[in-house]
Amino acid sequence: MIGAIIGDVAGSRFEWDNHKSKNFELFTPACSLTDDSILSLALARAVLETKDNRDDLPSRAVFCMQKLGRQYPDAGFGELFIRWLGEEDPSPYQSYGNGSAMRVSPAAWAGSSLEEVLRLTDQITAVTHDHPEGMKGAEAVAAAIYLARSGKKKEEIRDYITVHYDPLLFTIDELRPSYTFDATCRGSVPEALEAFFESSDFEDAIRTAVSLGGDSDTIAAMAGSVAEAYYGVPADLIRRTVLFLDHDLMAILLDFERTYPSKAMEDGSGERLTVYEVLRQCGM
Ligand SMILES: [Mg+2]
Repeated sequence: MIGAIIGDVAGSRFEWDNHKSKNFELFTPACSLTDDSILSLALARAVLETKDNRDDLPSRAVFCMQKLGRQYPDAGFGELFIRWLGEEDPSPYQSYGNGSAMRVSPAAWAGSSLEEVLRLTDQITAVTHDHPEGMKGAEAVAAAIYLARSGKKKEEIRDYITVHYDPLLFTIDELRPSYTFDATCRGSVPEALEAFFESSDFEDAIRTAVSLGGDSDTIAAMAGSVAEAYYGVPADLIRRTVLFLDHDLMAILLDFERTYPSKAMEDGSGERLTVYEVLRQCGM
């Protein structure tokens, strides 16, 4: 999940001011935490709270997204989602926006098989994004994260996406000049996956995703969530990103990483720490 948060923060200042190059400073004071991180953390909490009984996951997903969403109303939510946030007994609204895929990573880390990951994904997605394209986008990203964290090679992950979702028939370089803002799953999930496939390491995945333009923070969040599972995240990027999290959000991240540990990259010390251990080291 930290990979999605890093992508969100790094891409945040380019969402409305695209930067069509991989050359930029990753974190500046103009960066911020946006809806991608807030809703990933909300769903992380829902996944944690239903560890012993997944029947309640959909209702907890609604509760936790409404709670955190209302706590951070200026995080950049879409118009329909804002309406959903305000409802007392909200119904899904056939969304096919990329919100389903940007926030899905907790499901991909909590499931212990691909089947379970897809089941958890459907449970947390259908409460808002019950359009087939909204469901499919979330499933594609979740499946890619799960396969990456299970040690599958890029070719195997690409084959899975080709067979079960869509073949990716473009390169980022080909697409970049003409690509514009598209917040649908269909118009941004394949692009985020391609950015990951073309990347040489975690940071390059974030840079490649941002360089495409469009919905930069969300494309980088999706690419980052898969890249985290595949490469691990440099500890330094984790340390710099958590400065953007307040106490409440940090508590959720810590709890999630303690329960469903992911690995950071080897840090020069010779040992490969978990993200949780890196967070503890920086006094969280
Ligand atoms: Mg955003």
